[in-house]
Amino acid sequence: MTPNNRPLQGIPASPGIVLGRAKVLSEHVETQPCNCLLYSPEEIEEQLGRFLKAVEQAETDLIALKDSLSPEYQEHGHLLDVQILMLKERMIFQETQRLIREKRYNAEWALFQAWQKVRELFQGIGDPYIKGRIQDAEEVYRRLQSNLAGKEVWNLSADEPVIIVARDLSPAEATQMTSSQVLGFITERGGRTSHTAIIAQSLEIPAVVGVDFATREIATGDPLIMDGLTGQIILDPDEALSRSYQARKKDFEAFKGEVAQASNLPAITTDEYPTQILANIELPEEVDLGLKYGADGVGLLRTEFIYLRQRHLPTEEELFLDYRRVVEAMAPRMVTIRTLDIGGDKFLSHLEYAPEMNPALGLRAIRFCLKEQKIFRTQLKAILRSSVYGRVRVMFPLISSVRELQEARRLLEEVKQELQREGTPFDARMPAGAMIEVPAAVTLAHLLSRQADFFSIGTNDLIQYALAIDRGNKQVADMYQPLHPAVMRMIREVVNAARVARIPVAMCGEMAGDPLYIPVLLGLGVAELSMNAMAIPMAKHIIRLITIEEARKIARNALRLVTVEEVNDYVAQEMNRRFPEIFRFVHALAANLEP
Ligand code: PEP
Ligand code: MG
Repeated sequence: MTPNNRPLQGIPASPGIVLGRAKVLSEHVETQPCNCLLYSPEEIEEQLGRFLKAVEQAETDLIALKDSLSPEYQEHGHLLDVQILMLKERMIFQETQRLIREKRYNAEWALFQAWQKVRELFQGIGDPYIKGRIQDAEEVYRRLQSNLAGKEVWNLSADEPVIIVARDLSPAEATQMTSSQVLGFITERGGRTSHTAIIAQSLEIPAVVGVDFATREIATGDPLIMDGLTGQIILDPDEALSRSYQARKKDFEAFKGEVAQASNLPAITTDEYPTQILANIELPEEVDLGLKYGADGVGLLRTEFIYLRQRHLPTEEELFLDYRRVVEAMAPRMVTIRTLDIGGDKFLSHLEYAPEMNPALGLRAIRFCLKEQKIFRTQLKAILRSSVYGRVRVMFPLISSVRELQEARRLLEEVKQELQREGTPFDARMPAGAMIEVPAAVTLAHLLSRQADFFSIGTNDLIQYALAIDRGNKQVADMYQPLHPAVMRMIREVVNAARVARIPVAMCGEMAGDPLYIPVLLGLGVAELSMNAMAIPMAKHIIRLITIEEARKIARNALRLVTVEEVNDYVAQEMNRRFPEIFRFVHALAANLEP
């Protein structure tokens, strides 16, 4: 018998408390299948039968997974449709059968050989978008090998809702967690601002990432408590502890409900200093979540997820319809459309990483778009066309030089002229801004401000690049410190440059939505904060309980401190003193404050 109440600690990635049984996703089949030659026609028939059964099983599981998506997330089913289609793709389906028949390979080896050819073919293609589709193909390959090995993969049609436990989940896999059967998820890899964590928040699924040995320590069927607020996981909880967590869960949900009641009120401080609280969204349908939580607009539309969820490059018309949907739903509020930011941890797969040693420092975001100008122009055209349906502004990610911004703006102007020639309407004065997420952009902020209509500080990347801490690497997650004196000084510098140039400055990294940091950010002069829709009610609640003078004082004092530990302690104490009811539940730093 295992002892009760065994704790595991991870990084809280998406808030909420869940109690339930675990479902451990089996490891990707990484061992190379062995080549066992077949001798008799019966053996060949048997292997063909095994392969066809594996395909059939995969199809049934994928359809069940798609059907179990909650209604509001049906559109995430696109990713699953791609995989269902791939199951019958000639190069895998027919080639595997041919190899079994003609080469007398066993099913695993034939599938492996067919997959190798597909992989080589993908790798030989220069187009990074098509190359990126290899992730879907790889998931299909793994699923088939797992079925052949008799292992379970994504069979979420379990009888009861489960807490998913996996070594790693890519952002694309995380979007598949929308099943009503998934209570929450736990991964061994990942950090608080990895895109997988961001997806969990936008799907409102509690999650804990970076849990050492989770797939070894937890077995399918184990009863668990997962606390997405503190990152704690309790294995085999006894009745008393389960009861106390049920009470904490109830308390948290009641508090959340209370806070949500004020989420449609304006975000003004008690001394009437106005702020704007906007939503970060990944897919058009999430705009409803933004509206539900009282967003003053969209401060970041991460457009790459629209590309990720379908198999072909979206056409201008498809993009236009998606953008128009968001713009119309939000009108007359502002929608900030960020141009394609692929690379880094998106298109995540081992194979996708292979060509670049350091994808975070590679052909990512604006660098990719300036190279693949056809894709970029198509997107810019769609954005401009959507601009007449409400208020739109565009922003360019990962700007690291004035030339990049000039080049992006030049292409934007060319596309405008094209639309003009075609007689297609667009907002000729649509603002174009720069994301500040590379230290070079901070240093150049005063120069960039002459070319930008606004700035938006992307702290997820800015912290990663400024402190040299991989945002998705749990080994260094404790060094990923938003209140690091260097980060605070960078924010101050960007705000000062924007002030001199009289352009607005927003923040759209995860830091902007963290209740602990909001007063500091206001005090530093960032009054436009964009965050996961779910975080909006709490952000507004805090802003409505503080004065701008108090916020400035907290920022001033924090800037005087020398080490990040001192800043963290100071801010945590201040916030705990002012908002004890919030910090009872919320924040990783609350660990320092627990009695
Ligand atoms: C950021 O880097 O802070 C940001 C908002 O962009 P993303 O998280 O999509 O990289
Ligand atoms: Mg970024």
